[in-house]
Amino acid sequence: MKNQSISDTLKLIKSKKISIKELSNNYINEINKNKDLNAFIYFNEEKILERAEKLDNMKEDLPLKGIPLGIKDLFCTKNMPTTAGSKILSNFQPTYESFVTKKLLNSGALFLGKTNLDEFAMGSSTTTSFFGNTINPVSSENKKLVPGGSSGGSAAAVAANLCLGATGTDTGGSIRQPASFCGVIGMKPTYGLCSRWGIIAFSSSLDQAGIFANNIQDASILMYEMAGYDPNDSTSSNVEIPKYHDNLNSNVDGKIIGIPEEYSLPGISDEINQVWDKAIKVFEKGGAKIKKIKLPHTKYALPAYYIIAPAEASSNLARYDGVKYGFRSENISSLEEMYELTRSEGFGKEVKRRILIGTYVLSAGYYDAYYIKAQKVRKLISNDFRDAFKECDFILTPTTPSPAFPIGEKEDDPIKMYLNDIFTVPASLAGLPGISIPYGTSKEGLPLGVQILSKHFNEQEIFNAGYYLEQNNE
Ligand code: GLN
Repeated sequence: MKNQSISDTLKLIKSKKISIKELSNNYINEINKNKDLNAFIYFNEEKILERAEKLDNMKEDLPLKGIPLGIKDLFCTKNMPTTAGSKILSNFQPTYESFVTKKLLNSGALFLGKTNLDEFAMGSSTTTSFFGNTINPVSSENKKLVPGGSSGGSAAAVAANLCLGATGTDTGGSIRQPASFCGVIGMKPTYGLCSRWGIIAFSSSLDQAGIFANNIQDASILMYEMAGYDPNDSTSSNVEIPKYHDNLNSNVDGKIIGIPEEYSLPGISDEINQVWDKAIKVFEKGGAKIKKIKLPHTKYALPAYYIIAPAEASSNLARYDGVKYGFRSENISSLEEMYELTRSEGFGKEVKRRILIGTYVLSAGYYDAYYIKAQKVRKLISNDFRDAFKECDFILTPTTPSPAFPIGEKEDDPIKMYLNDIFTVPASLAGLPGISIPYGTSKEGLPLGVQILSKHFNEQEIFNAGYYLEQNNE
């Protein structure tokens, strides 16, 4: 099946060249053919066709009418189970729809199913899911690669053309890193642009919904439909959302592109630097000015993130105790045992590690030394970006320090796994918007992405710069 764009698909539907039901059947076939990727962990053909028929019979014209999407299984959905990739929520059926998915449904989108993820979105490989790992579609027959994570199912689904777009969430890189590994576009907007209401919480001060797509236009259409103010999320921003897709403009003449010297890490492979250099040269060709900038506290970003995110996770995950919903251990003889066994049987290894770290850094005596210190570092990192954006319009960096790695690698060394986020975490701590755009390949032919960051709520400029790169990708 050909990889269509959203606007082309909408045209086909509107002109009745294809019905939404036929289109859905095409995608159902693709998903069935690619079951071994394990991109979707929930998928119900009957429900898809029911919705397709309803949309086909609807007179009203809607901006995403019939567009098939994948939904990361961290968004609560009223008509589909929501598991967060965890045993502890393996039987959970929400009674409500998340704000973001509700917006997409109201715009006429057709949800094909729920996509796989690292358990509770903690990870960079989609190997910690209770429902098994996802395989990166760029893998070869004898070398199976991770799709990145935590939104690996969504990235793989878009890359394998199992849907036209997919939602993700990004706390420290979970959209941008898998987008880079799978060769698709991944956009994390400014913290507060998309409501967190109904998204299962990992680290509330960092979690942000975003999108995977095949091209900038599709990404900008979907982002516009997802964004918006929600009084149910106290950190939701009441800002005007421009129609990004109508305003796409690939002119970068005169723009100043910041290149942070701290992102030239010793030991980073040549292939990463080559792709970065290629993007720099292409921007220069378009009349952009390149400026070396400093983000002096970059090296403290990862340690600060791995204190703040687990601290918030330990608090957010306290609610999974077997009382009201989710999995409950069967071997219990007392209330205390119910809590203990439910949590020790229901959570996987990585989630337990985060809860332990988070509880430790929040405990009396360590709170000031770790948690408060990390919050201070977070402020310094935000200040670095604030100062940098006085001198430049965008910041351009690699998205990841390596291409996709084989399944099973880095599994026994959490620090190695955490290093995947080295280029994505700083912007997350500062709440900035960022995109990953596929922009080259490794020596082995694996996709590599570049990351563009800009000021808060400057999504339009990011899409424009991405649009330019997309059109100038030799
Ligand atoms: N890989 C990072 C982590 O494990 C980021 C995850 C995310 O953005 N949800 O925390």
